[in-house]
Amino acid sequence: MKIKPIVLIDIDGVITNFTKFYVDCAKYLGFPAAHGVDEDWCPKHWNVGQALGLKRYQRAAVWHRMSEPNVAQTIEPYPGAIEGVTQVMQYADVYFPTQPIYESSTWEYDRYCWFKQHFNEKVADRLIFTKDKSVIFGHVFIDDKPNHIRDWKKRWGTGTAVLWPQPYNADVLGIGAEFFRPNEPDWRWVHIRAAEAAHRGEAPSWTH
Ligand SMILES: [Mg+2]
Repeated sequence: MKIKPIVLIDIDGVITNFTKFYVDCAKYLGFPAAHGVDEDWCPKHWNVGQALGLKRYQRAAVWHRMSEPNVAQTIEPYPGAIEGVTQVMQYADVYFPTQPIYESSTWEYDRYCWFKQHFNEKVADRLIFTKDKSVIFGHVFIDDKPNHIRDWKKRWGTGTAVLWPQPYNADVLGIGAEFFRPNEPDWRWVHIRAAEAAHRGEAPSWTH
């Protein structure tokens, strides 16, 4: 039986360029380490601030800046991401699990506005704010963070877990066995995975 698959798509590092957002905030604060950094620069490990060479107090200041009202609305989508997600939405029920930043009093509202601006209100209604994405049911789950992918896959054994490729998650083990990692950010590849999940017609089930 053919079904409409549920596809869960993480936002930061998948749809939006969180790295550039971080660097832009560091530049705004005038930290010399951030100046001269290319538009498409991306670190090889998770801590952007450390990769930039920022001191601890500077990294704290960047987080503070990111948490100010409206600032989160300035984060940029990756080229092709809005179009790619829109295509996936044509044949899948898409939801967007994302971790809130509790230090910000307006993060969730800013994110909602961002979705209304780049998609529309109906799509914005599909945001899911949570620290534990593994409890959310779906046929396909896409995230750039290995821990989220592992936790979700552990709960939903037969579900398709996709580690969205970034330079900072290139050395993760388990590819092919536990989860997929496409060679490059490719929304057509997501279409194929979602279509396969729909064709199989079986829903992942809770494993523990
Ligand atoms: Mg992410």
